[in-house]
Amino acid sequence: MRQPLVAGNWKMNGSLDSVKLLVDGIKGGLGSVTTAEMAVCPPYVYIPQVAGMIEGTGISLGAQDVNDQEAGAHTGEVAPAMLMDIGCRYAIVGHSERRSIYGENDEFTARKFAAARKAGLVPILCVGETLEEREQGITEQVVARQLDAVIGLEGIGAIGECVIAYEPVWAIGTGKTATPDQAQEVHAFIRGKLAGLDSGVADKVRILYGGSMNPGNAADLLAMADIDGGLIGGASLKPDDFLDIGRAGNA
Ligand code: PEP
Repeated sequence: MRQPLVAGNWKMNGSLDSVKLLVDGIKGGLGSVTTAEMAVCPPYVYIPQVAGMIEGTGISLGAQDVNDQEAGAHTGEVAPAMLMDIGCRYAIVGHSERRSIYGENDEFTARKFAAARKAGLVPILCVGETLEEREQGITEQVVARQLDAVIGLEGIGAIGECVIAYEPVWAIGTGKTATPDQAQEVHAFIRGKLAGLDSGVADKVRILYGGSMNPGNAADLLAMADIDGGLIGGASLKPDDFLDIGRAGNA
């Protein structure tokens, strides 16, 4: 049985005051989330503040990105060991905004994945197709290519120690959610592809859905056989919505 994971990606939002309100709000309702693991991924600068606030609550902490190098002359970047140092468990790699806005390709994403694991972090590997790619009928090819870059570098075993997030790019921040059937189809493809390489890894790995998940659609998405949680953008900035999504995973 895979424990659902509901992870909030706050993106580039927040202030000292709003982060306090948000985390206090989440902590206030956490008792009603009985099954899912809840995680938050604040902007780097607020991670220490959040780490202090969530101590002992069971909420997991993650970063939205990480560099592929251990240390050195990489101005503006943050190394995996630094994230471990400040209490992170997860690091998102390959988010579509990193890929599309900052030109990060499959190989760079795979190197970030490897560096994160080496430091002891659990990578949350984002994969997903653009609208154009879906319309061309190449969704599976795109997702397979993104996964293969990581499997090629790190081996299939590494996938068993990470989290995958299927995030159709056309559904991120647009209010257009994939239907439960559309999402399940790709999740089943991902699990089936992994099962072809190692059935134990395929059974174990959590595959999250991301793309305009909200309290209104979460229960139907989370009810699908291969959807093991959500990576939540916009709705994770509102404590009640984030908690509602968490509760939608209650067994
Ligand atoms: C995301 O950024 O990973 C995401 C899924 O965003 P949203 O929920 O806002 O679509």
